[in-house]
Amino acid sequence: MESSNINIVKTSSSRLKGIDFDAVEFGKVFSDHMLLADYYDGKWQDFRITPFENIEVSPAFFTLHYGQSIFEGMKAHRSPEGEIVLFRPMDNFNRLNISAERMCIPQIDSNTLLEGLQELLKIDKGWIPTTPDGALYLRPFIFATDEYIGVRPSLKYRFVLFTCPVNKYYEQPVKVKVETKYARASEGGVGYAKAAGNYAASLYPTQLANDEGFDQIIWTDSKEHKYIEESGTMNLMVIINDTIITPPSGETILKGITRDSVLQIAQDLGYKTEERKLSVDEVVAAHRNGSLTDMFGTGTAVTITHVSAFGLGTELFELPPVTERHISIQLKKDLEAIKRGVKSTDHDWIVMV
Ligand SMILES: *Cc1c(COP(=O)(O)O)cnc(C)c1O
Repeated sequence: MESSNINIVKTSSSRLKGIDFDAVEFGKVFSDHMLLADYYDGKWQDFRITPFENIEVSPAFFTLHYGQSIFEGMKAHRSPEGEIVLFRPMDNFNRLNISAERMCIPQIDSNTLLEGLQELLKIDKGWIPTTPDGALYLRPFIFATDEYIGVRPSLKYRFVLFTCPVNKYYEQPVKVKVETKYARASEGGVGYAKAAGNYAASLYPTQLANDEGFDQIIWTDSKEHKYIEESGTMNLMVIINDTIITPPSGETILKGITRDSVLQIAQDLGYKTEERKLSVDEVVAAHRNGSLTDMFGTGTAVTITHVSAFGLGTELFELPPVTERHISIQLKKDLEAIKRGVKSTDHDWIVMV
């Protein structure tokens, strides 16, 4: 679809002037405009850009009751030359459609979304921070809009993409608890989808871990709690004997774009990578014999977040200081530089606006 088919209504009172980009808290400050579309009469239509504003809903709004809702998370950066840089945006839109299929939400054309996003970013370019750790976080999501509380897929949906200027997500390395009771995802379930309810379900176990002094959980498989899956909403990697190991993405492990990019960059740099089942026992044994040198999470919000220690039962296993973790520091630096248009890449990852 031509971008001229996107109806644009601009705000008459930009909030940009009052924003201190060094002080914004993650996910609390919203840019002036958003991209919208609606699904009704069997098709996605009315692609438009409007001022960021509230949405009024009926108490019978389908999503509020049954959570037929999915989202994505991506980022835009400003290159040193001031251009707007997107990182693998089509992978996010394609994954939105994978989540959509699982949640009975109609497919939405990824190319149209990319065009709409580009229009939006041209309008809100001034909202993309140029601070060293800054980025414009992009939040596309789709939710059911029927006013109906019978249980069946909604007949109407809305797509929204709003944006938030952000800084670093975690300031410090995180202390994580190996979860052996609760599960994030199970075979046949919806763990591979970015479905809203997955995050609601993770809150309680995470809160219990917080109460024990941990920042996050390491999720294990739902059957035996023997194999490591993810950490919080990040994919997890460990380095044992200089090999980067991460569990295979699939039904219960979300196919992270950062995960894929980190593995690719590691291989390009000549590091050995393995995507395979990783048991808690193996990680503990590697810690005891000194071959476990690193553990980190990967995700768009954080890029790479180091784990300072992991807890299992009553034991706490400390990891080496972050300053000694040369491999992951280099991976993070390279990936950040590519995403910010500072370093070029042979991979087809960058879309300039
Ligand atoms: C979004 C998400 C990730 C990270 O995916 P990226 O594409 O790297 O941002 C990992 N795990 C879960 C459960 C997620 O929701």
